[in-house]
Amino acid sequence: MCGLIGVTGTVESAYEVYLGLMNLQHRGQDGAGILTTETRRGKEFHLQKGTGLVENVFSERSFKNLQGNAAIGHTRYATISRNDPNLLQPFLDYGLGLGLGHNGQVVNFYELRERLAGEGAGAIESDSDLMLKLLASYLADSEINAGSLFAAIKRCMGDLVGSYSVVGLLRDGAVFGFRDPNGIRPLVLGRKTNGDRAPVYALASETVALGFLGYDPMGEVAPGEAVFLDGKGGIIRETLHAESYSPCMFEWVYFARVESEFGGTSVYRARFKLGQILAEHLKDLKVQADVVIPVPETSRVSAVAIAECLGLPFRELLIKNRYVQRTFILEGQESRQEALRRKLYPIAEEIEGKRCLVVDDSIVRGNTAFQIVKLIRQAGAGEVTLVSSCPPICSPCYYGIDFPSAGELIAHNRSEKEIAGALGVDRVVFQTVEGLKAALEQPSLCTGCLTGQYPTDTGGAQVFEANRLRDRASPGHKRSRC
Ligand code: SF4
Repeated sequence: MCGLIGVTGTVESAYEVYLGLMNLQHRGQDGAGILTTETRRGKEFHLQKGTGLVENVFSERSFKNLQGNAAIGHTRYATISRNDPNLLQPFLDYGLGLGLGHNGQVVNFYELRERLAGEGAGAIESDSDLMLKLLASYLADSEINAGSLFAAIKRCMGDLVGSYSVVGLLRDGAVFGFRDPNGIRPLVLGRKTNGDRAPVYALASETVALGFLGYDPMGEVAPGEAVFLDGKGGIIRETLHAESYSPCMFEWVYFARVESEFGGTSVYRARFKLGQILAEHLKDLKVQADVVIPVPETSRVSAVAIAECLGLPFRELLIKNRYVQRTFILEGQESRQEALRRKLYPIAEEIEGKRCLVVDDSIVRGNTAFQIVKLIRQAGAGEVTLVSSCPPICSPCYYGIDFPSAGELIAHNRSEKEIAGALGVDRVVFQTVEGLKAALEQPSLCTGCLTGQYPTDTGGAQVFEANRLRDRASPGHKRSRC
């Protein structure tokens, strides 16, 4: 999972992209990059990338170099090779005059890498690199304009299997974006007007980034659609290869900022409704509790809704140390467990003897939940019911979220009773798939990790997974997803 933004048509482009990336920091904390192009001084690219948080990568001095009227930016979420600067984005093909950043996962990466290697493309480090080389191969020697670019993107869409939202920059200051034919990863569009001047357009992973910068929302880039922003107020949109509307349900449940909106449903509203639906379920199950405790931060809205519907006190009794990274994106189980122990502190005197209804956004491997339950038990809880806003995650994700192979998922082939036993709680209560669909209010969704039914062909998924695990185990390997 990564964050993307592109802006064209203003001298503020690089700074806007920087501020946008600050608002997309939650989508990737391993590194960040900004690419600009300065058309007035001989069409020159400027690129700066670095590991760590956005505010640590860029300083005031950065913007003396990052000149130009167009810029794209990227925040990286890595599952391996976190500190490898070669994998930071945007990637740039200087000779071609095109750079891009990508969010998603190419399932047939290994097959396409082999094909491109056979065509002399050279080493390919990641699926973002692969997308750039694939695009380059289809642009060949043609002049790059909206027509030739869309034709090349269409051919790429015919080859690529998986999820991908892309934002790119051309040397002449045009910014383009496209979204995979199933719309799995998000990409939104915004416009800013200023009197008689030509409008300025921007693309980003989430509406919160564009709203912060003062852009009026123009909705989402549709599945399989490409957008070309010429930097002079012109915009061209074309659907090139649509298959379905299958946005990732996890954007609403966990990943996106609560201020964002996708498909007409705000993340806040979806999370609140998830809580309301769960509360009805808890009533049906006749679950008794004294207090509702959210696991910070993502589950807070659902926990408020549950408390409100059940007439129970809502109490923030797990206090987060905000300076510790999200455990979900750390490498290796031990560091994940250790990080969790360091980042949450329970208020024991408020927990002691109480029947606690602990609300979390989801339960993936169970490591986080296990540690949280341990903390609450040690604080003297009388009874612990663990409530998950998300239905049981029992299948892998092939589209860019680091859900491991099925065997590592706590809900895989386990009943709720068995999961409760493994986590050390009195009971565990999950959202239902129907409840999730009702809360997100979308005509359709990707629910592959819940149901095992994926929006794309996953015929090569076993090969993909085997290669991925092999590569992860290989010490020198650089394979990255975004
Ligand atoms: S499989 Fe799950 S996490 Fe992956 S894209 Fe689909 S809904 Fe999202």
